[in-house]
Amino acid sequence: MTNRDFVRLQRLGETLLLCCSVQRLGETLLLCCPVQRLGETLLLIEESPLPTSNDLPSRKVALALLAHPDDAEIGCVGTLIRLAELGWEIHIATVSAGDCGALTGSPSEVAEIRIAEGVAAAKLANARFHCLREPDGRLVYDRVALQKTIDLFRDVAPTLVITMPMSDYHADHEITSQLGRAASFVYAAPNASERPLTDGSTVPYLYYSDGHGGKDRMGQPIIPTTIVDISEQLDQKTEMLACHKSQREWLKAHNGIDDYLSAMRHYCTQRGQQYGVHAAEAFVQHRGHGHPSNDILAELFPLLTSSQSQAKPRN
Ligand SMILES: [Zn+2]
Repeated sequence: MTNRDFVRLQRLGETLLLCCSVQRLGETLLLCCPVQRLGETLLLIEESPLPTSNDLPSRKVALALLAHPDDAEIGCVGTLIRLAELGWEIHIATVSAGDCGALTGSPSEVAEIRIAEGVAAAKLANARFHCLREPDGRLVYDRVALQKTIDLFRDVAPTLVITMPMSDYHADHEITSQLGRAASFVYAAPNASERPLTDGSTVPYLYYSDGHGGKDRMGQPIIPTTIVDISEQLDQKTEMLACHKSQREWLKAHNGIDDYLSAMRHYCTQRGQQYGVHAAEAFVQHRGHGHPSNDILAELFPLLTSSQSQAKPRN
């Protein structure tokens, strides 16, 4: 018990609970063990195993659920590339095909172009691309959209999910975040879908990607729980974003500036510099009831900098 500090004893009926703190991976966890009083001696009768930080899943399947076909390349693809390098199977899915992201062309024409761009980009990371084809700019959280999302999760059976920020400038992003959260929690329940249940289906690790400019919908800074160094993946991330040619042209026509690629690179390097690396992606982990709460991304990709403390920006 060398790594424990006893904090308190608490009487619960006839059982005394010994609560001790366990230092693991920079986090303090609480462990409760039943003990029995023998004279003046406290006897540990059944020691719970040390928290194992939820063992890493044997099924290594990551699913990124985004709103539009270029959201993955902007927010999380550097991390997906790193997971792929470790042998993870990668899926990139969008709820909409981004059919409003053009000045010309019918919705179905634009959708086909953007899906093809998504497929081409995903191929560069050896990932599979999926699209739920809900209408761009009009995403709603309803039973139809949720069932499509659950069915996708059922087919993929992810053990790690990245979705959009819960609060962001674009309402489609927030709806996607809700769909990703709901599907994560329920997809492995046998009655949630008629699709077959894959062995190893479980409530996955869940992360929300960074908000636009690191801010939420009200312009307040997002405080990440997790930073992933993507310095070595930044060029591939840029190559993947460049596959979305229609967006580059559209944004150039719409905003008058051709900064589609440079804006992404600039933001990633800015995030990286806050944490002492060249380029980074930031995430907020969902640590609520039911989901694994150990930070698997931080465990797989520890920041190798002088400021190793996760998610503490340099002042
Ligand atoms: Zn988007």
